[in-house]
Amino acid sequence: MHVLITGGTGFIGSALVPALLADGWSVTVLTRNPGQASQSLPAAVRLVNTLAEVHQPVSAVVNLAGENLGEKRWTARRKQAFFDSRVGLTQELVAWMRGLDAPPAVLVSGSAVGYYGAQGHETVDETTPPHDEFQHRLCRDWEAAAQAAESLGLRVVRLRIGVVLDAGGGALQAMMPPFRWGLGGWLGHGRQWMAWIHRHDLVSLIQQALADPTLQGPVNAVAPNPVTNKHFSKALGAALRRPVLLPVPAFMLRLLVGEMAHLLLTGQRAVPAAAQAVGFAFAYPTVEVAFADILARER
Ligand code: NDP
Repeated sequence: MHVLITGGTGFIGSALVPALLADGWSVTVLTRNPGQASQSLPAAVRLVNTLAEVHQPVSAVVNLAGENLGEKRWTARRKQAFFDSRVGLTQELVAWMRGLDAPPAVLVSGSAVGYYGAQGHETVDETTPPHDEFQHRLCRDWEAAAQAAESLGLRVVRLRIGVVLDAGGGALQAMMPPFRWGLGGWLGHGRQWMAWIHRHDLVSLIQQALADPTLQGPVNAVAPNPVTNKHFSKALGAALRRPVLLPVPAFMLRLLVGEMAHLLLTGQRAVPAAAQAVGFAFAYPTVEVAFADILARER
């Protein structure tokens, strides 16, 4: 069993790689910087800089690479990089698979709950029609590029991922300092919904997606209990035993992060209908349980 992973050095990938090695997979990671990747990934991982270097046969592909959306303000150039690094790379991946004598059996490819656009208070499952906006178009094109692999006979799982929670990276790393100082607050009116998932559950869901032949198509990779931003902020404050008293006003957020503020001030009440339909069990179903675990492991 040989799996090729793109984005294997990232926040999600770095937790996925050891889990797949433990499952007995032989793992290859496609990375822009193999030298740097060798410092952070287990020695058993084979690192490649181009698809031409990948040893055959490959039984599965997990596709997570993409320019980080949260790190800096969204300039026109960065927005193009969001597309190129996801849609462009996925198209390259599928073109490469097309040329193989024995293509892999399954492609588990990233996407985000942003696929649905801002959805207000609607409960969002995999059948909910999306609203057309930048984040939707990015995810739509990324998913379409992955779906093209179905014509090669692959089972394609499109993971619509919510905010991934764990220590050492992702959204919580950025949020934690102000909350620790007692300066954390909800964003805007705080009534926007947040679909989230503990990184451990996301890794388990990817493991199930690789193994379970009945899982196919769009899959919301979110915990079964989405919360409002205010609930999320209060729960994080409570877990840290710090007060959460005031909002970060929407205008201030727009000044601070520009267009990206839209992602933080709107959201999706997304639920994991497809995952639950195949019996996936969440170890961390509520933010309270997730925060307790994450903070306990940080101490
Ligand atoms: P990270 O930003 O931590 O890692 C993404 C990886 O993609 C990097 O390690 C890097 O690998 C590769 N990458 C980054 N920029 C580029 C680029 N310009 N061209 C090619 N490759 C690039 O992401 P996460 O692990 O947090 O997330 C993985 C995927 O899941 C992302 O695409 C993200 O959009 C999506 N997602 C994540 C969520 C989250 O909360 N974390 C929520 C919803 C979706 P290397 O440097 O080795 O080449």
